[in-house]
Amino acid sequence: MKIGAIAKIIDASILSKGVEVDIVDLSLDSRSAKGLPNELFIAISGPNHEGHDFISELSTKGIKNFIVERDISPIPDCNILKVESSVAAVQAIARTKRKAFTKEVIGITGSNGKTIVKEWLSTILSVRHDVIKSPKSYNSQIGVPLSIWPLSEKHDIGVFEAGISKPNEMAKLASVLSPSIGIFTNIGTAHDEFFDSEDQKISEKLKLFEKSKALIFRTEHTKVSAAINSSFTGEKVSWSTSPGSNSTAQVKITDHQNLEVYFRNNHYSFDSEFRDQASLENLIHSIICALYIGLTEAQIQKGISMINPIKMRLELKRGINNTYLIDDTYNNDLEGLNKALDFMDQQRQLTKRSIILSDFIQNKASLQFYHELNKLLLQKGIDKLIAIGPQLSANKEAFSLPTEFYKDTGSFLESFSQTQFQKELILIKGARQFAFERISMALADKGHKTVLEINLDAVTHNLNFYRSLLKPETKVMVVVKALAYGAGSSEISKLLEFHKVDYLAVAYADEGVMLRQDGVKLPIMVMNASQDDPYKLIEYDLEPEIYSLEQLEAFLKAYRFVNKVLPAHLILNTGMNRLGFNEGDIDALIQKIQNNPHIKIKSVFSHLAASEEKTHEGFTQEQVSLFREYANRIETALNHRPIRHILNSGGIVRHNAFQENMVRLGIGLHGIEVSDLHADKLQNTATLKTVISQVRTVKAGETIGYGRKGKAVNDMVIATIAIGYADGYLRYFGNGNAYVLVNGQRAKTVGNICMDMTMIDVTDLSVTVGDEVVIFGSNPTVSQLAEWGNTIPYEVLTNISGRVKRVFYSE
Ligand SMILES: *Cc1c(COP(=O)(O)O)cnc(C)c1O
Repeated sequence: MKIGAIAKIIDASILSKGVEVDIVDLSLDSRSAKGLPNELFIAISGPNHEGHDFISELSTKGIKNFIVERDISPIPDCNILKVESSVAAVQAIARTKRKAFTKEVIGITGSNGKTIVKEWLSTILSVRHDVIKSPKSYNSQIGVPLSIWPLSEKHDIGVFEAGISKPNEMAKLASVLSPSIGIFTNIGTAHDEFFDSEDQKISEKLKLFEKSKALIFRTEHTKVSAAINSSFTGEKVSWSTSPGSNSTAQVKITDHQNLEVYFRNNHYSFDSEFRDQASLENLIHSIICALYIGLTEAQIQKGISMINPIKMRLELKRGINNTYLIDDTYNNDLEGLNKALDFMDQQRQLTKRSIILSDFIQNKASLQFYHELNKLLLQKGIDKLIAIGPQLSANKEAFSLPTEFYKDTGSFLESFSQTQFQKELILIKGARQFAFERISMALADKGHKTVLEINLDAVTHNLNFYRSLLKPETKVMVVVKALAYGAGSSEISKLLEFHKVDYLAVAYADEGVMLRQDGVKLPIMVMNASQDDPYKLIEYDLEPEIYSLEQLEAFLKAYRFVNKVLPAHLILNTGMNRLGFNEGDIDALIQKIQNNPHIKIKSVFSHLAASEEKTHEGFTQEQVSLFREYANRIETALNHRPIRHILNSGGIVRHNAFQENMVRLGIGLHGIEVSDLHADKLQNTATLKTVISQVRTVKAGETIGYGRKGKAVNDMVIATIAIGYADGYLRYFGNGNAYVLVNGQRAKTVGNICMDMTMIDVTDLSVTVGDEVVIFGSNPTVSQLAEWGNTIPYEVLTNISGRVKRVFYSE
């Protein structure tokens, strides 16, 4: 679409005019924008993000086309189109694209399973068709138009999901998507608060299908069926698993979980690996739709076998020779590769990047495709490609990037030497047939089986939650002391840098040095630098907290000596009585600063002693008024307004009015809401896991473990798990004070916790050696553990020792 045509479609006023180009890419997120001249950036004002703030940065990066909903100054050579609503504009563009497409478009809605049905159905249809589908869970007012944007006549069929959370949203999505065939998955309790009744929710969702010629649904969802039967005018394609229902399709799930389907007088049978009801329902929706479209039994069966029963997610784990691995050995399509490359982009600790890639199984690939692949990999800064499979080898000529070719996984492993990989980030991405798990096993850092898994999406979610409580202009400093509360400071800091927080804080200089060595560029405050060598701070561009005149003098000496300016953060003691200037020191402090050109006050701050506790609300307010009074005195005397901050996580939640112009977020980032007002708004970020090493029967009367503290009253089954107090599983959790989760079943600790191992009671549970054991995560939570151990979540998290491997992942 030409930019001129777009301007007409969205009825824009033109704030500045550049060249007429054919727009290829749409972007809404400044961080993932590519910076191309044929890219169109749509600025949206969101609760957590202000797109308009990035326009001049993006134009420098190379983007020349913008849609805005505010007045902004013209930029030479740029097309800037102003509209009333950017969201409505992107919908209008998508609507035009959709209208030009003449083949089938499948729309999926319902409370649960939309994304899964979309993914599975697309996989099945891709056996016969060139399918375009929504990426990830793009089903919102913006997600749907973005999904439709790439739609063109070279596709055979489109599969898109649509989701709503409030009344009156579906009509807009319907006008954009206008599905010819619909699937209504089911109805559940999501977003209930915005609807008066379940019936209202169903009839709102049904608006998606007002113009559809056919609609697929399950008879057992009686309210959905009734609504469709009374209001839907097209062909009703119902299916049921209850014998004798008069549905269009009858499905029988056999004892072996095979599916017998009777559809339009024909009988089909399919194998599936799925066991649970929800997955089977999603699969049957997909099968019925594929049958309706006319795929054969064999085609559908082939599609089912390509569905990955394990949830695909990306993990970052440590590999041999200081490498990091991103492991995705289940499927390989271009969208998945793009997602993995984006994930790779967020990991900045290693600059050398390699990819081990298999043939693309689901693509009808031409030489052109491989040229584009080569271009994509070069663009993403990939240094080395290891290409495995006959198709990649057959298209050798397309690769200008340094590439090694192998005909199959076995021949790569034969020639493999460990020293080939050093200090690099390696993406392992292969279709299932290539069994790339063998490669990832060869490259993985083998060690202790106990891991702390960090969900980076949950960290981002929590950051955004705290941001949503703040004014948009309030800066955020994230405290990443003690390895970011045990999570791993470099990885977390990289993520925070990606999300543009303003500052980091660490406790000691060495923690800051480590971040700098790992390439973190954000400004870093060091909270207790007193014993540190000031030259180290200078060398690594770290900014000390200054809390006493003696310390200030000592630091100034070093900075003066090398003729540098000391970037100081002044801490004022307002009642915590830990570090900081008392009221009586302030005049002397001001004088010292006034007489000294080698100091620059970056910020003035204080720390609350009990921000999270309601009972101490009065004390907190007193601390804040003292802080403001002292800070005003300093500012007036110096005629300079440094950043001010006093709130930590608990304070952000309870004392929002005191956000000043920066806050210091710590534990909240890790999903723990200490003031307990919004615990349900945060997501769990860390899961500590281990495995069962041995299972044994212990006879009644015997004892278990050191000091014979565990006693078998009756016969018991005991499992020994590979975690102990040296890993941070504190001795308080022994003797039944805590439970762990084995295959979803609770098992209490028995006897004393040992240094490296713990015994748990698995009597009557079904467990075997090697089973995964969750120590904490969603259940039990860190907060529960803290309670059992009579301590606080901070201590539980920061006790996880260095020998526990950290694994980072993103859904
Ligand atoms: C640790 C720390 C924080 C963060 O506190 P949370 O309660 O984890 O949010 C903030 N400021 C200072 C000075 C700290 O020492």
